Amino acid sequence: MLSDITRPTLLIHYNIVMENLRKMFAKTQALGIPLRPHVKTHQNQAVANWMAEEGIDRITVSSLSMAVYFIRGGWNDVTLGFPFNIRETGEVNKLNRNVKLNLLVDQKSTVHYLGKYLEREVGLYIKVDTGSHRAGIPCEDTAALGEMTALIHRYPQLQFKGFLTHNGLCYQARGKEEVLKIHANALAQLASLKEAFPEAEISAGDTPSASLAEDFGVISELRPGNFMYYDLMQVQIGSCAPENIAIALACPVAALYPARREILIYGGAVHLSKESLDEDGRLHYGKAVRLVRGGWDTQGILGQVDRLSQEHGIIRVEGDWPELQVGELLGILPVHSCLTADLMRMENRILWP
Ligand code: PLP
Repeated sequence: MLSDITRPTLLIHYNIVMENLRKMFAKTQALGIPLRPHVKTHQNQAVANWMAEEGIDRITVSSLSMAVYFIRGGWNDVTLGFPFNIRETGEVNKLNRNVKLNLLVDQKSTVHYLGKYLEREVGLYIKVDTGSHRAGIPCEDTAALGEMTALIHRYPQLQFKGFLTHNGLCYQARGKEEVLKIHANALAQLASLKEAFPEAEISAGDTPSASLAEDFGVISELRPGNFMYYDLMQVQIGSCAPENIAIALACPVAALYPARREILIYGGAVHLSKESLDEDGRLHYGKAVRLVRGGWDTQGILGQVDRLSQEHGIIRVEGDWPELQVGELLGILPVHSCLTADLMRMENRILWP
C-alpha cells in the first residue's frame, strides 16, 4: 500500500480517526451538547464525510476559504471561528444564502461595517476571552458585552447568537488535574456570563478540556478540532495516549549516519511545521516510528526529530541502532497535527483497515 510513496506523504489512519470521533461524539451526545468540530485540523473533505456519516451536521472553520471549500463539499451550517476580517465581506455576500453562516466579532467597528455592507443574514457570536488573551472581549466585562449585543441588534441581517470562546490556557497544562483546574476557572466565568445574558448561547471548545472533562457547565456547544487526529502535544498535555494519534508523516530515509547516531529523512519544516515540544529539557519536532502493516508502531519509538531545515529532518536515534536501509519509509508522529495536516493537504493517503 505504501510502495508507491515517493516523497513526504501524510498518512491518515481511518480506524484511529473514527475511534477518536466516535468517542467525542458519544460523549457530547450523552451530555446533550451539540458537537461542531473544528475542521482546520484535517481540512479534508473525505474526513469531513466520515463526520457527516456519523451524524455530525455542523462545523467550525478558521478562514473564509476553508468555509468555501467545505460548503462546496455539502456542509451548510458553518461557524467561522476567527474574528471576522471585514475585507472579505464581498465574498460572504456571494455565498449560497441557504448556508447557515455564523461569524465572530469582538470589535464594534466590525459590527458597524457588517451592518452597512453585508447583504445576507448571518449568525453573530461575540468572541469572549476567558484568560488566554489571544482575542476577544474579557468575559467579565459585561458592560462592553452588553454594548456589543445592543449594537448587533440594530442591524436586521445580524442575528445575535451568543458568546464564543476557545480556552487556549488548557495548552499550558500538563496532566488531567491541571487541565480540569483551568477548565473549571473558565466554566465559572462562563456561568457568570450566562447569568448576565440568559438567552445567549455559549460556544466553547478546545481538545484538552473536551477530552478530559465530564462537566461543561453552561456550555451549549462544543468545538474541539484537534481530537480527530491528536498529536504529541496532546500526549504531553495528557489529552490522549500515543496510540490515539491518527496521522503520521511517511518520510523516505535519505541517509544513515550510525557514527553520530543520526538518520536524515526527506521531511522538514515545510512538511512537519516548526512546532516543537520540550521533553526532558530538549526540543524536538516529532517522533520516528516504524511503518507496519496497516499503520505504525507507537511502542517502538526510534528517536526524535532533533533538527529541521526546509526539507531536511535529522532523527537522533535512541536505544539500539535500527536495521534500516536508505529509501525505506519512516513515520513521524507530529508535534502539532493541525499544522502538519495543513502543510500536507496536497499529499495525503488514507489508511483503511
Ligand atoms: N475554536 C476555535 C475558535 C479555535 O481557535 C480552535 C483552535 O485553535 C478550536 C475551536 C479547536 O481547538 P483545539 O485545536 O484545541 O481542538
